[in-house]
Amino acid sequence: TALRNVAVLGATGSIGTSALDVIARHPDRLRATVLAGGSNVDALLALCVRHRPTHAVIAETSRYAALRDGLSAAGLDTQAHAGNEAIDALAAGDDCDTVIAAIVGAAGLSSTLAAARAGKRLLLANKESLVLAGELLMRAARESGARIIPIDSEHNAIFQCLPDEANRETLRRIVLTASGGPFRGWCREDLAAVTPAQAVAHPRWSMGPKISADSATLMNKGLEVIEAHHLFGMPPDRIEVLVHPQSLVHSLVEFVDGSTLAQLGLPDMRTALAVGLAWPQRIESGVERLDLLTQRRLDFEAPDLDAFPCLALAFRALRAGGTAPAVLNAANEIAVSAFLQGRVGFLAIPALVEEVLAALPPQTADTLDTLLDADAQARRIASKVAATMT
Ligand code: NDP
Ligand code: MG
Repeated sequence: TALRNVAVLGATGSIGTSALDVIARHPDRLRATVLAGGSNVDALLALCVRHRPTHAVIAETSRYAALRDGLSAAGLDTQAHAGNEAIDALAAGDDCDTVIAAIVGAAGLSSTLAAARAGKRLLLANKESLVLAGELLMRAARESGARIIPIDSEHNAIFQCLPDEANRETLRRIVLTASGGPFRGWCREDLAAVTPAQAVAHPRWSMGPKISADSATLMNKGLEVIEAHHLFGMPPDRIEVLVHPQSLVHSLVEFVDGSTLAQLGLPDMRTALAVGLAWPQRIESGVERLDLLTQRRLDFEAPDLDAFPCLALAFRALRAGGTAPAVLNAANEIAVSAFLQGRVGFLAIPALVEEVLAALPPQTADTLDTLLDADAQARRIASKVAATMT
């Protein structure tokens, strides 16, 4: 097999470090040639020492000198870069054939699009880019021949169970599983006083703070419904959400003949990353085997939409279409960051998202500019409303 050159965008994050762990297990077939981080130069430098990429890039331009000097002090010949344009150029450039899109939030859209337009093998963890600009991103990939392999565990599971293109009409529906997050079974009243520390303490997965908070509100599952719609061309009424607290069944695919296929595994993102890095082959990921005899139980229950209205809001935004999902995502990013900084309570997250959706009626979203405008407007309104809630 040919050597794959991989750009890891969001290298210093939870997905990024898991990806580098898998890559380092296969020096004969995988090499990390580009590492990109946000602002944490020390973490990026430590990864450069270990993985010796050709390029290292930091989004925060004021950190350029620190990165350049750190690389040379470490005696590395890794080239230093800074800024979002540099990330986009490296994601589209000749030094990688595979791009892991693992920057968090809408900040990841531009490099994800750049990789899709350049026809890369795109391992997509950054679900917010699909929520914000799913049609554009999928079209860009179709036109360039970029292969998108979803890394989000649910979508990766579906990807593994999916029939080939010719038999897509035999799909009846897809079922996304949800752990239910740390507050599964709680009622609305009890949720009012939860702290950021409680919200990011996920019972099954170890992840970055933003997606952990999204899992606690169930907005994560809402974003994933929209993600599934774009990735698999499924209308909203054929996408179902099922709470499965053990997080061992990562999702299911139902066929017209009554068959349901599922993918199972321990909750560790290295499995999905290994699938993406090697597909259609398989490689070792470092994840232990799933022993069902020790796990023993697989439970399923319906999501509680009263206590966790974010999931219903996401379905509503998907059905409304146009700019609505972009508005939902942007308002949620502002709400989550206000919550994580202790400026608003947990229940303010759905309240804020609902208010911003109501303030910005959906418009047709045929260009990237329309979507970015909607994103910016939603952020402005959400910040204003959040300030009144403090
Ligand atoms: P983390 O918060 O752990 O990591 C985020 C990464 O993005 C860091 O490398 C960070 O750099 C970088 N970053 C942040 N802001 C910017 C910016 N403006 N420009 C460039 N880089 C930036 O997040 P996760 O790894 O948990 O999640 C990453 C993405 O993957 C998210 O979209 C999430 O929804 C998705 N995902 C994650 C899963 C998980 O298990 N963690 C599962 C499924 C999907 P720095 O460290 O320098 O700040
Ligand atoms: Mg997921």
